[in-house]
Amino acid sequence: MDISTICIHGSDGNDPTGSITVPIYQTATFAHPGVGLSTGYDYSRVQNPTRQHLEKLMAELEGGADALAFSTGMAAIAAMMELFQIGDHIIALNDLYGGSVRLFHTISEKNGLTFTYTNMSDLSKVESLIKPETKAIFVETPSNPMMYVTDLAALSKIAQSHNLLLIVDNTFLTPYYQNPIALGADIVVHSGTKYLSGHNDTLAGFIVVKSPDLAEKLRAIYKTTGACLSPFDSWLIIRGIKTLAVRMDKQQSNAIALAQWLSNHPKIKKVHYIGLPDHPDYTTSVKQARGFGAMISFEVISEETAVNLLERIKLIYYAESLGGVESLITYPMLQTHGDVPEAEREALGINERLLRLSVGLENINDLIADLEQAL
Ligand SMILES: *Cc1c(COP(=O)(O)O)cnc(C)c1O
Repeated sequence: MDISTICIHGSDGNDPTGSITVPIYQTATFAHPGVGLSTGYDYSRVQNPTRQHLEKLMAELEGGADALAFSTGMAAIAAMMELFQIGDHIIALNDLYGGSVRLFHTISEKNGLTFTYTNMSDLSKVESLIKPETKAIFVETPSNPMMYVTDLAALSKIAQSHNLLLIVDNTFLTPYYQNPIALGADIVVHSGTKYLSGHNDTLAGFIVVKSPDLAEKLRAIYKTTGACLSPFDSWLIIRGIKTLAVRMDKQQSNAIALAQWLSNHPKIKKVHYIGLPDHPDYTTSVKQARGFGAMISFEVISEETAVNLLERIKLIYYAESLGGVESLITYPMLQTHGDVPEAEREALGINERLLRLSVGLENINDLIADLEQAL
């Protein structure tokens, strides 16, 4: 079955009423039929039928043994970090979602983990950073906000040969365009708030795992730490995923057109979009993913131009987040990456001229007209 069909019909149950959509089981707990007996559902922190439908769907879309649905993407990543012990070392990409960097710097380090951040375009460099206490490699591809692409199949060979977990944040491309598990990843994390929800109206997060063994460990953490997704929000994400394919294809075609338009604008210095053939990682993208997504970052000629643009846009919102039907623009330096230490940020190119655009579903001519007047 094609992935676009799975988005609509994946994990369809046999509802006795014939209901086309999964019911919202808005309950905290479940009655037991007898002593020592269970319907399979005991308490909604542990399992809930609506959430389970979504989790099976996500496992199917990512090709994993199991998927766990969380209240936010950060809740998913924070729970995943509980797999590690004091003294463990993790190699992470040096261009991650700012919230992940904040989690690692302020909480994981306090809990005794250590991190080395690196560019992953040269994988021999990554290998040279592996120490006896290294346990995992954490990567986002394409990365946020600089749009670096990491060769996941090659990285997974390194991870496997050193017995490390390969963890991939697949928020930007979603399972519709990229399946990290098929490329060798052990764990895939998502902010479901973004394309999976698709409507800028629900927060959610996921961990998808390759092996039943890891699933069992994470289920124990999930049950214990408790940041589960509510039945209603699970239902909203299921509804969002039904249109994932058509949204992503349209958002991508808008993004390709906008990236080309921006590239030719005199007030734009540099456009970072993985779908442009002159992007340095274009061939890796084409090799490992089925699409380029709809995230663009670009550098304007001056700080003044950046600030003016943010204040003048009318149709596009100046707002954090991404992936929804509404186009959003962010100022990474102040917003998503505000807590990343300045030296780290500047070295990456996240400066006062860099803006990040999540291209939505509006008509392309209206988007271009809005940017044109704002520039
Ligand atoms: C938004 C985002 C997160 C965090 O997810 P929330 O749902 O906001 O908690 C993690 N990774 C990436 C790539 C994101 O864009």
